[in-house]
Amino acid sequence: MSDKICLLCAPTAEHLLWSDPFCRVIWVDDADYPGFCRVILNAHVKEMTDLPPLERQRLMDVVFAVEAAVREVAKPDKINLASLGNLVPHVHWHVIPRWEADRCFPDAIWAAARRDGQVPVVAGMAALVEQRLRELLPV
Ligand SMILES: [Zn+2]
Repeated sequence: MSDKICLLCAPTAEHLLWSDPFCRVIWVDDADYPGFCRVILNAHVKEMTDLPPLERQRLMDVVFAVEAAVREVAKPDKINLASLGNLVPHVHWHVIPRWEADRCFPDAIWAAARRDGQVPVVAGMAALVEQRLRELLPV
């Protein structure tokens, strides 16, 4: 890190679905990928291997709970898990529901669009994912 402020250490606006002292789950409001969530470690740590093994496992337990909740609610054709952090070197995982008819399938969502995406809309999806996370991840 240079002297820039980390966007994940100092978030301006987040739609929080779940949190504990270790990490948080936010709703990424993306109409092209409804159900897109992000799991963010609260501490400013660059790589998964900077964490002790038990903390790596704890974070992945949360990532997999989010994957399960998004699968149940959004019923996507596929889930993509991504940890990039090139722009924001602070451990976070993208949990992205994918449909064969979405804008970029089968490429990564950051690739050039192949088509106008067609994705299902589920009313109240964020609240449904939030409710399921509370069941899967008791604090
Ligand atoms: Zn940070």
